[in-house]
Amino acid sequence: MAQPEPPDQDEHRPALTRRSLAAQAMGRIDPATRAVVAPLHLSTTFLRDPDNGYTSGYSYARPDNATVRECEAVIAMLEEGPSAMLFGSGMAAATAVFGALEPGDHIVAPRVMYWGLRRWLMAEAPRRGWGLAFAAMDDLDGLRAAMTPRTRLVWIETPGNPLWTITDIAAAADIAHAGGARLAIDSTAASPIHTRPLGLGADIVMHSATKILNGHSDVVAGVLVTARRDETWERIGMIRSGGGAILGPFEAYLLMRSLRTLPLRVAAQSAAAAELARRFCAHPCIGSVLYPGLPDDPGHAVAARQMEGGFGFMLSIRVAAGEAAAIDTAARVRLWKRATSLGGVESLIEHRASVEGPGTPCPADLLRLSVGIEDVDDLFADLDAALRNAPS
Ligand code: PLP
Repeated sequence: MAQPEPPDQDEHRPALTRRSLAAQAMGRIDPATRAVVAPLHLSTTFLRDPDNGYTSGYSYARPDNATVRECEAVIAMLEEGPSAMLFGSGMAAATAVFGALEPGDHIVAPRVMYWGLRRWLMAEAPRRGWGLAFAAMDDLDGLRAAMTPRTRLVWIETPGNPLWTITDIAAAADIAHAGGARLAIDSTAASPIHTRPLGLGADIVMHSATKILNGHSDVVAGVLVTARRDETWERIGMIRSGGGAILGPFEAYLLMRSLRTLPLRVAAQSAAAAELARRFCAHPCIGSVLYPGLPDDPGHAVAARQMEGGFGFMLSIRVAAGEAAAIDTAARVRLWKRATSLGGVESLIEHRASVEGPGTPCPADLLRLSVGIEDVDDLFADLDAALRNAPS
């Protein structure tokens, strides 16, 4: 069954913006009650027609669910793709893309990427017969050199967690396609507000919807959006329904509620992150600030080309006095919350190297900051006090 259409747009009316469509969750009115908020569909099963068919398009809730479809339609609209698929987590979404590969296929993944997925790839690739190479994706020669005749999937993440390195999406897509591979991208830290990778040549976009898409730290979810409905997309759909990885309807309902304010949250959180990055550059206790919005950041020129409306809500700082001072700083903050994850309305701080363990490219003196919607002066003052009081 087709995903719900955007509201009627007669030919004389200007097309609605993504912000307007998101605010009204595509403007759908429930036909039974005229409710402006779509009902939550919890039923796991659906009545068959007398001739045994399913004219509603729904048979059982593991392959499909109306609330999930409605939420997928909003995300597909935001990413400007024809179809989206929601999963029970970002990891379930990402691993479904890899799961569509055949034994013998080769993957190129970034050196700087979400550590949980990197760890999964390192454990699973040999067991499933996939070749695997990690490349520095901010250096396109590194990607070119990592390609083999068997490379079928290039995975990138930009900005790349937790150093916020930038990959040129269009150039990476050209290299992947020239080698006969697809380009999939973890766009969690960019959000569809800042970057639309499908328009730049990516084949599949993935988000941990647990992060800014939901934005309230109360749903674990993942999503894929495709550039085209093809055999690979169908195979990923089979992996989701066969493996039972679909998002639950209540989580989809909460996620859709959050998507209505996504453009506002991203704008506020990115503006606050940019302001904090600027202030931290002059801080005596901070050795360097990693944020692609800073004019002297190595990824700034590419980021300025492929991101719009800001450079994201994530940044990292390197504490000048080293690892112990970084850990101590995270222990002293009061407003920032010492917790993992990112993209919520509450600001989070994390000593990433402790989480990622041996083999991480993350420096030991780095603190990862996810900027929420609190007052910027309060956020600055809290971290400033913690930095100044940490033993040097
Ligand atoms: N991608 C990025 C950039 C992440 O930060 C995370 C989680 O931290 C994931 C993927 C995995 O998402 P989830 O925790 O929803 O499975």
